Amino acid sequence: MYLKSLELQGFKSFPDKIKLSFDKGLTAVVGPNGSGKSNIGDAVRWVLGEQSTKTLRGNKMEDVIFSGTEARKPVGFAAVTLTIDNEQGELASEDREVSVTRRLFRSGESEYQINGKNVRLKDINELFMDTGLGRDGYSIIGQGRIAEIVGAKSNERRDIFEEAAGISKFRYKKQEAERRLHAAQENLVRLTDIVSELE
Ligand code: ATP
Repeated sequence: MYLKSLELQGFKSFPDKIKLSFDKGLTAVVGPNGSGKSNIGDAVRWVLGEQSTKTLRGNKMEDVIFSGTEARKPVGFAAVTLTIDNEQGELASEDREVSVTRRLFRSGESEYQINGKNVRLKDINELFMDTGLGRDGYSIIGQGRIAEIVGAKSNERRDIFEEAAGISKFRYKKQEAERRLHAAQENLVRLTDIVSELE
């Protein structure tokens, strides 16, 4: 599995549609200060479902939409598409190439897509769970992250190891099953009340 390309439109300092293609192996992004290198990393985080505006270096989610310059008007939406090679089937998808898209409009409306089909954020999270690439994965190491990991509490560090070991998915599924069981038990209590009222 490797990143094949990243398409940006209206995201932070990139008003026009651009496509960055990556080859296998190492890719370095170089450029002067303030030219948008970190914004590319932010785009990868964002398309993977990042919800923290702080992690995205903004105050509100709308800050990811190109806000205009002296020469250009602001745009109405931001869109990012990340295409991943899935030849080895590491992602839980039949497709050999998986594209994930996220769009956000100034109205606040947002959408996520996997291979062009509208999905929920939950589906994006599930797709990347235990691959290391997801929103909470360990593949994106931002500035200060190493110090954060070293200084993390033992349970936080355990989460990182569990993601690497592929256990997170099972923990998530267990929690989902417990939540559904709890809801079913509550329904049962309600039903029992109704039955006893009718008797
Ligand atoms: P450095 O090498 O100093 O870390 P960098 O190349 O990583 O810089 P970034 O932090 O990616 O640069 O980009 C900063 C630029 O992006 C700033 O000029 C900022 O004004 C611009 N920018 C960020 N958000 C937006 C936005 N919503 N609309 C327009 N421009 C934006």
